[in-house]
Amino acid sequence: MVKETDIFIIGGGPSGLATAIAARQRGFDVVVADGARPPIDKACGEGLMPDAREALEKLGIVVPPEDSHPFRGIRFVSGNLSVDASFPTGAGIGVRRTALHRTMIARAEAAGIRLLWQTPVVGLHPEGVLLGRNIVRSGWVVGADGGHSLVRQWAGLDRYTRDRSRFAFRRHYRISPWDDCMELHWGPKCQIYVTPIAGDEICVALISRDPHLRLDAALAAFPELASRLRHAQAASVERGAISSTRELKRVYQEKIVLVGDASGAVDAITGEGLCLSFRQAEVLAECFAAGSLHGYQAAHRKLVRRPALMARLMLTLDWKASFRQRVMRAFDCDPRLFARMLAMHVGALSAVDCAANGLAVGWRMLNA
Ligand SMILES: Cc1cc2nc3c(=O)[nH]c(=O)nc-3n(C[C@H](O)[C@H](O)[C@H](O)COP(=O)(O)OP(=O)(O)OC[C@H]3O[C@@H](n4cnc5c(N)ncnc54)[C@H](O)[C@@H]3O)c2cc1C
Repeated sequence: MVKETDIFIIGGGPSGLATAIAARQRGFDVVVADGARPPIDKACGEGLMPDAREALEKLGIVVPPEDSHPFRGIRFVSGNLSVDASFPTGAGIGVRRTALHRTMIARAEAAGIRLLWQTPVVGLHPEGVLLGRNIVRSGWVVGADGGHSLVRQWAGLDRYTRDRSRFAFRRHYRISPWDDCMELHWGPKCQIYVTPIAGDEICVALISRDPHLRLDAALAAFPELASRLRHAQAASVERGAISSTRELKRVYQEKIVLVGDASGAVDAITGEGLCLSFRQAEVLAECFAAGSLHGYQAAHRKLVRRPALMARLMLTLDWKASFRQRVMRAFDCDPRLFARMLAMHVGALSAVDCAANGLAVGWRMLNA
């Protein structure tokens, strides 16, 4: 029975494990507890952009090629228009959540992190956390318990500056990927994204504002995609999730600190949630090493800024089909505009160039 540790992490999903590994790399004794049994699945687009892979590599994690599938860039499809661009450097990969979880666990175990599965944390204690009736004393407590975080409530951190939800459903299909890009299909008030995750499997995720809209019904509005999937065997059950856009006023309180979706989230359409968690984990571990959480709030806000802006920009395309088609035509006329938008998405474009690209898109829309 664990009695004491430097850092106790509540939640052994991607952000909890990333934080544990980053803290262990700095010499801390770390315990992670999760109520579920690994490998843990979750509805997700399962795409890791090149910046997410880089963040993982910093943690000493490389997803084995046999568990993933590369993609060179992103394609937007809307009506009869399709635009694509390659990432400025590197490739993205699609990886099943369970495979990513297994890889992260192997790294955490090798680093000497104590992992407690099927062990829900039931409350906080002034000296640490409560596992059933037992107290585990801990210098720091990390809430990495996802979007519905109880730690956030227990610590009184559930005060928001922004809080909106959309609804998502995901299913895997046994079919060879037909594209070397991750595809984002835009439809009436919903999007479907398609991520290649193996030589013979893809992940299909639907996001919309309608909690009742399921994949099969939504596919009717995407005839080309529906026809590709018509004879493909489903390789998993349809799994649902909430995609939140959430900004918290504060992400720590004394020695309790939040990371990953527990600390706020950007809409899933960005495909940046995991990368954000991995980067927050690094910053948080630096704060532990410095012995103070003071810098975490500002650093956290800075990390969220770009993905949050990208989510807002992308969701303007969800506003009106006619507006979206004008933007798509602008991209179609000058594909460099889309390539620059993708570069901006993965943080490879300066703020000035981003603003210039926005103006160029507007100019093209007026003239396309
Ligand atoms: C539809 C959809 C598509 C997405 N697509 C992408 C994508 O393509 N790429 C990308 O990078 N991101 C994507 N995201 C975002 C990404 O899934 C999340 O950002 C990521 O899962 C956050 O990880 P986390 O560890 O913070 O939370 P979670 O993965 O939710 O993990 C939280 C863990 O805490 C545990 N837990 C909860 N309460 C307790 C407790 N009391 N005690 C112990 N354990 C507890 C849970 O069992 C769980 O394992 C997507 C999200 C959605 C909804």
